[in-house]
Order: sequence, then structure tokens, then C-alpha cells
Amino acid sequence: MAINNRWIPIVAAALILTVAVAAFYAINQSSTSVAKEEHTLFQISAFNKFSMGSYEGNTTYAELARHGDFGMGTLNGLDGEMIAFDGVFYYIPSDGNVRQVSSTAQAPFAMVTFFKADKTFRVTDEMNYSQLTTYIDNTLPSENSIYAVKIHGTYDYAKTRSVPLQTKPYQNLTEAIKNQTIFTLNSVEATIVGYRCPTFMDGINVAGYHLHFLTDDKSAGGHLLDCIARNVTVEIDQIDKFEMTLP
Ligand code: ZN
Repeated sequence: MAINNRWIPIVAAALILTVAVAAFYAINQSSTSVAKEEHTLFQISAFNKFSMGSYEGNTTYAELARHGDFGMGTLNGLDGEMIAFDGVFYYIPSDGNVRQVSSTAQAPFAMVTFFKADKTFRVTDEMNYSQLTTYIDNTLPSENSIYAVKIHGTYDYAKTRSVPLQTKPYQNLTEAIKNQTIFTLNSVEATIVGYRCPTFMDGINVAGYHLHFLTDDKSAGGHLLDCIARNVTVEIDQIDKFEMTLP
């Protein structure tokens, strides 16, 4: 039986719709297979092992994204500083040009969380890095928790860095950082993403604050070395569970 020409677009549209609906359900099924655990830090590798030169990634960013929509880390071969929030993963390579991380890229060290703020407050006084982190410390309920920190607003100044892609044999982090590129930013709107870890986690992670920085226009950022915050909103997520893949 011949199909009348005028039915062809309708049949084609019905077929496309069927395939689209099937694909939608397939994607939803795979994404709901892992429960989103809040107040949990998921970490790839131990920091002290990584910092001795274990820069070979063993986990894809697609896998990492199943454990969090917010976090920080680096890429295979120590290729730049990664910062993630609202489910988007960015990295700042040593050339300074911010890019989105490909889902097939590998992470040798990374930390992620499904970020949910327990506490939000504004800081309108001008504060440098150490004043700002001390101010946040005074709001924290316990020294023994991990805290995910998001700080968005206006910064009069920020000093960030990124480290160039390393070649084998890998040198340790202290040596690799000697080739870092420093970026100086003035009068920017930006987001800080990071963590504060308790002293007893030193080695497994870094005790104290580890913060990454990205401007709202996604033109610059990196590992935060110093800043002057002028008017920022601070969001804190208290973390009581820690999961780590062994290096
Ligand atoms: Zn960093």
C-alpha cells in the first residue's frame, strides 16, 4: 500500500516523538539510579598522595557529577584549577582562559557536594582573605565538621593562580607550583567555592580553607591566594559525612 505524500511529515513527526520520549525516560532512569546525598563530601584520592605527584586521573567528570554539583579540584596531569557550582564544572588552565570541563576528562583529585546551604549571611564590611575566613570561622558551630562554602558578590581585588599541565615523570606539588601563573583581578563580581576541613583531616585533605574563584562573566579565576571582599553573600553547608576513593 502506498502512503499518500501528505501523511509522510505526520508519520515522521510521530516517529521522532516516540524516539524522543524513549530517550527522555532512558536518561531519567539512569540519573535517578544514584540518590543525591546531601551534607556529604565525595573526594577523589587523598591529598597527601596526590601532592606527591599522583596526577593521573582515574575518575571521569561524568562519574564525579553523580556525586555532587558543587566543588573543586583539578584535571588529569594537574591541568588547571577546577571549580563547580549549580551543576556546571569549569576549569582555569594556566593560560587563564576559562573552559567547561568535558564529561570524559579525568580527575586525579577533586571534592564535590550536592550543595545545600544551612546558613546564609551577608558581609558588607571590606575584608581581606584572612579577615573573611576568620569572620566565617566565628559563625561555625563545630571545629570538627567539614564546611562547604560559597561566597558570591563584589571583590575589589583577587589574586589567583593556576598550574600548567605537568609532564611525566611528575614532580611533587611544591615543585609544580613553582611554575604557577598568577592572575590579579580588580573590581569583579565573582563566586568563591571551597571547603574548610578540620585539623584532624590534614593529609587526607588540607586543614583549614581551600578556595577557588570564578568571575560572574566566566572570564577569569583560579585557586584563590588573596582577596578583598567588599559586599558578599556567604552560604555555608555543614558536612557530616565523608566518602573517598583510594588513590
Ligand atoms: Zn586549589
